Amino acid sequence: MSLINNVTGGKPTPCARCQHFDTVLIVRAEHLCRDCFTKYVGTKVLKRLEANKIRGGFKEAQKTVLLPVSFGASSVTLLHILDQQLQDRAQQGRHCGYNLHVLFIDQSTVLDEVDVRDAMELLSQRYPAHKYTTISLEDCFDYGIEFEGLSNSGEDRLQHIISSMPSATSKVDFIDIARRRLIIAFAKKSGNDSILFGDSTTRIAEKTLSETAKGRGVALPWLTADGFIEGIHCIFPMRDLLRKEITAYASMISPPLTPLISGESPKVSASSKDTTIDGLMSQYFESVEQNYPSIVANVVRTSGRLNPLAMLEGCRSCSICGDGVSTISWGGEQQDSVISSQPANRDGQKPALALCYGCARTALRPQD
Ligand SMILES: [Zn+2]
Repeated sequence: MSLINNVTGGKPTPCARCQHFDTVLIVRAEHLCRDCFTKYVGTKVLKRLEANKIRGGFKEAQKTVLLPVSFGASSVTLLHILDQQLQDRAQQGRHCGYNLHVLFIDQSTVLDEVDVRDAMELLSQRYPAHKYTTISLEDCFDYGIEFEGLSNSGEDRLQHIISSMPSATSKVDFIDIARRRLIIAFAKKSGNDSILFGDSTTRIAEKTLSETAKGRGVALPWLTADGFIEGIHCIFPMRDLLRKEITAYASMISPPLTPLISGESPKVSASSKDTTIDGLMSQYFESVEQNYPSIVANVVRTSGRLNPLAMLEGCRSCSICGDGVSTISWGGEQQDSVISSQPANRDGQKPALALCYGCARTALRPQD
């Protein structure tokens, strides 16, 4: 997608869809005006929601949908589109079908994040019809989440676990796991029916390759596909949109969403010691999506063919990430012996019972 001025030297061309307004963008080889582009983005999201039937029927009880926000362009744009859909339906006197609950997980104690307290305030002022909650990543223990086999006692427990991780990649990996488990636990405790994750095509492609590289390939359907986790319907409504399309949308609508967005651009550390697999993948797909968006979409389509149902049979839950540990041998790496071969942790507790390949490789890998 490029600005038309870069392509035609500023000569206006009509929009390929409406034939009326001037083109402002070329989206996947199609010349689009502002109106048709914003419609294109909204339709991609609403189609996904329709396919997953998140709205209850007219006679059914109103559903509650959890929307975790990171203040990146994708989750803020998703909130905007959902808010608009609910407003449109209300204006037409139609049944809304669901209530929206916006959740922010504060990770500032473990990651260098900008303070987003004001951002949450701005968000709730712009979209006042919904419920807003902020919780800290450390609250995961209050939601009954345990990371058996990892340091599990004392104050600053989370900090303690993270500082015991052997590499920058495993730290980021663990924080992602804790965040995801906390979102699901919060959704269950608050009585939400579904969770809408804001991951774009680009983000899902990054996740597909980085999770595979971290030994979590077996969990990809749970991490990237629409489906049920612990009874909660997890949906990725932004999965058909590239990050650059979402960013363009966020700056193009009126008023723009840009003041509500605080960063998120992938950054790669200058020091190789602090470089993470996730950081490298973000950087890679950031460059690929500029000129070869079909490669990004292709990675996502391919991982979308994996079937989580086939793997659920005979699965146990990993005591760290909560994903399935296959009991079917595919080389012996995922067997219980993985954990029994781990030394007792520093608190002298007994090792946990089940550990997936990814956690055995990444989270608990002994320091090099
Ligand atoms: Zn695991």
